Amino acid sequence: MTRARPVAADFELFERICSGPSGCGGRIMWAKTNASGRTEWLPVDAVPSDRGNVLAYPAPDNPRLLVCDVLATRGPEARRAAGMRADGWLLFTHHRTSCPRADQWARAPKAMRPRPSAFREPPPPAAEPEPEGLF
Ligand SMILES: [Zn+2]
Repeated sequence: MTRARPVAADFELFERICSGPSGCGGRIMWAKTNASGRTEWLPVDAVPSDRGNVLAYPAPDNPRLLVCDVLATRGPEARRAAGMRADGWLLFTHHRTSCPRADQWARAPKAMRPRPSAFREPPPPAAEPEPEGLF
C-alpha cells in the first residue's frame, strides 16, 4: 500500500509555540516516536527543512496524532532521507537545532511536554512509509 505524501497543510493542525519559561516563541510540532526504543514526544520545527532527518506524518489511523521516525544524519539513512526529500517527502529537524534556548532540549523538561490528557492513546506503531522508487 502506498500512502500519500503529507503536504504542508496536513501539519497545520499540529503547530504549537515553543513556550514556557524559556521558550523561544518559535513554531514547533510535537511528534510521537519510538525511535529510542521507548515512546517519547519530540519537538520538531514546524517548517520542513532540506536538512531534515525527522519523518513526521499524521498517524494513519488517527489523523490528529503526529508520529515520526528519526533517520540517522550519517550513512545509509542520511542518503535515504535525502532521497525521500528529493521524492517530495517533508522532513523536519529537531527543534534543538534551531531553538536559541537549545540547552533545554537535551531532555524536554516536563513543563514543555504536552499533557497526556490532550492526546488519546496512540495507535499501534505506524507502518513504515514506503516511498516508491527508493529501494
Ligand atoms: Zn524554542
